[in-house]
Amino acid sequence: MTQKKMPSMLPHIEALEAYEGVDPMEVMAERAGISPDKIIRLNGNENPYGPSPKVAAALGEYPNFNYYPDPDQRGLRRVLSGYLNVEPEKIIAGNGSDELIDLLLRMYVGVGDNVIVPTPTFGMYSFSTGICGGETIAVERDDKFEIDLEAMKSVVTAKSKIIFLTSPNNPTGNIVPEAQTRAMLDTGLLVVMDEAYFEFCGDTAIPLLAEYPNLVVLRTFSKWAGLAGLRIGVGAMDPHLAATMMAMKPPYNVNLAAEVALTTSLEDTPGLLARVTQIVDERDRMMEKLKQVPNLTPWPSRANFILCEVPDGRGKEIFEGLCSRGIFLRYWPSGRLKNFIRTSIGLPHETDAVVEAFRELCA
Ligand SMILES: *Cc1c(COP(=O)(O)O)cnc(C)c1O
Repeated sequence: MTQKKMPSMLPHIEALEAYEGVDPMEVMAERAGISPDKIIRLNGNENPYGPSPKVAAALGEYPNFNYYPDPDQRGLRRVLSGYLNVEPEKIIAGNGSDELIDLLLRMYVGVGDNVIVPTPTFGMYSFSTGICGGETIAVERDDKFEIDLEAMKSVVTAKSKIIFLTSPNNPTGNIVPEAQTRAMLDTGLLVVMDEAYFEFCGDTAIPLLAEYPNLVVLRTFSKWAGLAGLRIGVGAMDPHLAATMMAMKPPYNVNLAAEVALTTSLEDTPGLLARVTQIVDERDRMMEKLKQVPNLTPWPSRANFILCEVPDGRGKEIFEGLCSRGIFLRYWPSGRLKNFIRTSIGLPHETDAVVEAFRELCA
């Protein structure tokens, strides 16, 4: 009898490392040996106040979940046009902005191509590049985590297809000034500006869309609107690019529950922005408290998280100490961020608990 063999996969897929997302609350609780209601979960930059209270009501009343959503996203693009102040034909909604990142890469990057990313930054860009068989060229930010424009330009070759910029950047918290965005756009490559944390800072590249057809701006409802679990993000771009992306996306990529939640959220924008203001105020309060902790350096942030630098070589031990207290923050065990821990901004009592734990652990 001949040995049966599994057909071989594409080599770059076989070699892929899974993206490390955040674990569910119950899993964290079990790991710490603490009941789930005592866990402090500040590792995903999620919204501690949840969605607009109007969302649950709207979902409960919605009569048409037995129908497929509109593959052309007519209603969605109309309401998003008001949110972004951009014409509907330049807009596309995705199953989270993660899906839009994946679609863009599949449109531009094949095996042997590359993508340029100022690092450290959000991990999804290099992950999705890997799925396409592309290479990520990571260009180190300077010692203030600012983008090194000259280094970015110097690595551009004919194989380079996309530059990813993130403003405010995750996890460093700083924005990309307009002059830097323009310098990157002037390379002629597609520049994807990820504004996942826009509402926390108010700074946007949207006005540059009128000038640069090679610019794509991404936003998400996961952070400011508290809809991370329903998966909805949005992109604004050149209308021809948007039309091509509309044609290649899965027809029903945004589910109707997400669409209802998004529409309801935009009707309750003032309520949601009031909470964004609360989170920003809490961030500033946490920053002041973190500055008082000996042996800890919090980096300035324009988003809903703060990157904290701990003494050299002690990142892992401090991160594990936090976990054993039921406090789950974000840590990167290797590379340049091994002495850094990122905390999302949560509720005031969570701020106090995190600061207190840092005070004990960094002593
Ligand atoms: C959280 C985050 C996203 C993911 O957004 P989704 O819409 O939930 O997929 C995208 N970009 C950055 C920089 C993020 O931090």
